[in-house]
Amino acid sequence: MSRCIYCLKDDTQTLFTKREHVIPASLGSFVPLNPTIIATDGLVCSNCNEKIFGPLETNFIEDSLEGVYAQRLNLQGRNSVIMRDKNFKIERLAELGDKFFDQMFFFLEMKDGKVVPVMKDQIKLKRFQGGSRVFLPEALREIKKDSSVFKKISADMQKLDRKDMAVFAETIEKKDKIVALLHEFGVPYKEKESKERKFEKGEKFMLEKDYTCTINHDIGRVLAKIAFNYFAYCALQDKQTEILYSSHFDSIRNFAYADKGVLRQIIPSISEEPILYEEKIRNQRLHAHLINFLPENGSIVVRMTFFGRPAIYKVVLGTLPPELNHDHFGCGHAFDPFSHQIVQLSQQLPLPKTEDQIKASFGLFKRYIVPK
Ligand SMILES: [Zn+2]
Repeated sequence: MSRCIYCLKDDTQTLFTKREHVIPASLGSFVPLNPTIIATDGLVCSNCNEKIFGPLETNFIEDSLEGVYAQRLNLQGRNSVIMRDKNFKIERLAELGDKFFDQMFFFLEMKDGKVVPVMKDQIKLKRFQGGSRVFLPEALREIKKDSSVFKKISADMQKLDRKDMAVFAETIEKKDKIVALLHEFGVPYKEKESKERKFEKGEKFMLEKDYTCTINHDIGRVLAKIAFNYFAYCALQDKQTEILYSSHFDSIRNFAYADKGVLRQIIPSISEEPILYEEKIRNQRLHAHLINFLPENGSIVVRMTFFGRPAIYKVVLGTLPPELNHDHFGCGHAFDPFSHQIVQLSQQLPLPKTEDQIKASFGLFKRYIVPK
């Protein structure tokens, strides 16, 4: 029988037809195994997946530190990005010499093991409800005219504030081509102001001077869901999914599913210090998502960090059920969105290669204990 670990409804009350990603797809995909809780696993219902977590994840991606970072990397190759500028706000201080250029949205790319800012031609439109949407002309050109995607984008553009539109391009010629492209989408562009700035090769600039971001309820709920999904995926590999319905996990499911409860289950901290052994050797954080769970003072605690960013989130998953109280209780993985690899954190060489081998690295009792 299927039963949702979030809303606790079974297959007589709700449908199980969707695939739930352990790590949201917007934060990267992994090969040969992309950990997902599938419909036949019967653990996450379609309603929770689509109606509850769908909008929460969109909010996370458009209005959190990690979400905007993921959009800068454009991991899913989207033709536009959206920033709500409500919760995650960047303070720009005309570092490019002119406020005009500070309106530009910087993308990021991985280059020689480093994540570096990259300028891309773009069309920026303000949203009436706050924030902005940035379109990539390069991607828009690939869209077939009269296709449903083309019509959708054209309709979306009409809903944006076209009076305050900005076009950034590498050259004047490229700008003219973008203006022509906008016309194809039914958006006339009237230039009010035009500026040029020469960027020297190798010129360094700070991506953001200052930003504010809070872990509000919606963002907290996404973090709670990622933590519980990871734990559930580990329980699934050990065929111990019945544990997920126990009252030990009621507070995390109620918070993620129904926003019941308080945020004290999510504890953020900031650290630039290396966490893993590999990171200590290299004296830098891996550009990966790290996630692990361990027992701590009678509770199960999940720790997560994304893209090697300084924010570390501690999520209290619940109290430790006595049957899980075991020396090896715990598991941890690094999900690398650049190489698309997954590595178990306590993994001893040789590293697993096949889908089955990687799957087998997930479990409830995978904590490696250093032999005395
Ligand atoms: Zn559900």
